[in-house]
Amino acid sequence: MKDLKEKLFRKQKNAWFENKKEEIFGFSKDYMNFLNECKTERETVNFVKRYYSKHEKDELIFINRNKNIALVRIGKEKGMRLIASHIDSPRIDLKQNPVFEDLNIAMFHTHYYGGIKKYQWLNIPLALHGVITKSDLQTIEFCIGESEDDPVFVIPDLLPHLSKKVIDEKVVKEAFDADKLNLIVGSIPFSKEEKEQIKLNVLNILNEKYSILEEDFISAEITITPAFKAKDVGFDKSLIGGYGQDDRICAYTSLKAFFDSKKSSQSQVVLMVDKEEIGSEGNTSAQSSFLFEVVIEILKAKKLEPNFENIISFFKASECLSADVNGAVNPMYKEVHEKDNASYINNGVVLTKFTGHGGKYMANDANAEFVGKIRKIFNDNNVVWQTGELGKVDEGGGGTIAKYIANHNIETIDCGPALISMHSPYEISSKADLFETYKAYKAFFSY
Ligand code: MN
Ligand code: MN
Repeated sequence: MKDLKEKLFRKQKNAWFENKKEEIFGFSKDYMNFLNECKTERETVNFVKRYYSKHEKDELIFINRNKNIALVRIGKEKGMRLIASHIDSPRIDLKQNPVFEDLNIAMFHTHYYGGIKKYQWLNIPLALHGVITKSDLQTIEFCIGESEDDPVFVIPDLLPHLSKKVIDEKVVKEAFDADKLNLIVGSIPFSKEEKEQIKLNVLNILNEKYSILEEDFISAEITITPAFKAKDVGFDKSLIGGYGQDDRICAYTSLKAFFDSKKSSQSQVVLMVDKEEIGSEGNTSAQSSFLFEVVIEILKAKKLEPNFENIISFFKASECLSADVNGAVNPMYKEVHEKDNASYINNGVVLTKFTGHGGKYMANDANAEFVGKIRKIFNDNNVVWQTGELGKVDEGGGGTIAKYIANHNIETIDCGPALISMHSPYEISSKADLFETYKAYKAFFSY
């Protein structure tokens, strides 16, 4: 009976036993530096551009509006092996008229972006990242709160002594008003003269440093991110705490896997898109025509006519790992998962056949044949992997860019590590899972 069990049952490995610890730790160190450098989609595009110029041999690069990027290595055969991640993360943006003052404090109005739990952003050190397009159409970069001697910014919470009625007794959904997520940015008045002297002082500081006027905020994209750096978590330093790991952990591992892979029969493509966290809408999202543009360029490089027939047959011959994270089981909230189909920290990269919610609504449901193929590639390359579902069937759910890629008739499956506290300002990943994700992507590019 024991032999039969050994033969028939699926075995789940722990990724810490399958690799050298030094190798895992070495890999994660560079990843943590990347997290610190890349807190927005634009910063990630800049990082990938720099990485590309250091490592490229004959690979191609395509950039869309400084928010999407694609790296391509041409292969002889039809179709591509695509690893597609997103480089936007849940955050809080500034409104277009941000500056105001009230009761001796200058503040910025904000508008949150993506699925945040608002209370997690109160009273933590925050930084400002972004760009401002000035009236002369010059676009400048803006980043305050990341250097050691930079100030940080704070969205103030209410003291517990007075929270009883306005927060504590409400259900969480109603307790935190989005229009109260205002950022403290100053408190010294410019002069003793009449009104709005603190606002004036803040605008004056910004004018001296960046030569900007209040109206320039209207054509700005300034984002509030956590100011803290990625750190080791735990006595054994096995985990990583850091902002934006959904989904930059997949962007980073796909970038590394791409440059560490050799040419394969098909073209290899790394794609990083924006706007996933708000539903993949708009011209920098997975639904934009940017992927068509990349495929057209591949066809041209292969001396093929980029006509409709060639484009759709190229897509049809393509395969995609939709590189996105899953929600690992948090031991304190097991009840939202069904244990046999949930994903766990340290059990390796997660293959998620479908996402969506309820009766698989809005999901890409990967074809059995393709899941089988990926399973074999991972097993043949000693990748530690697990399957995952985002919670119990009717618990909630969520989507990725998989469905938009699959709409091109590309074989697509979600594949990425599982995070604890996903979408929080300090998401937690496993260093061993990070390394398995890299191994998985490399195996996919190299089979
Ligand atoms: Mn994601
Ligand atoms: Mn997300």
